[in-house]
Amino acid sequence: MTTDPHNGACHCGAIRFRVRLADGFNTIRRCTCSYCRMRGAIAVSARLEDFEIVEGKEHLTLYQFNTGTAKHYFCSVCGIYTHHQRRSDPSQFGINVACLAGVSPFDFQAVEVTDGVAHPNDTGRSRIAGILRFEPAD
Ligand SMILES: [Zn+2]
Repeated sequence: MTTDPHNGACHCGAIRFRVRLADGFNTIRRCTCSYCRMRGAIAVSARLEDFEIVEGKEHLTLYQFNTGTAKHYFCSVCGIYTHHQRRSDPSQFGINVACLAGVSPFDFQAVEVTDGVAHPNDTGRSRIAGILRFEPAD
């Protein structure tokens, strides 16, 4: 895997960003909420100040739903999710690990899945829904 800071981009390359992962890949997770279950990406946490769009800001599209707290960004050209500002902690972005140079979502054999249906901001507690596992064929 590449070292900090990481360079990232969407699929078409219109959007390029740089991010520092203060806690490395220890914070990777997926989520069961209505949006994440469709999006299907693994997100890793970064502080807002550790993330910078270096190219193509004008191609970012913002999507918000439900309470409108979380800000989900994706590329208007290729449709790939790049990052989102969290509802559970607005001082953090979730970053799509698949957008990071040299990183594949299949590098991770076990990914924690948080319960985003019973959201921590609604229930007052964070709950793990399960662990998603990937077993390489060889
Ligand atoms: Zn793109």
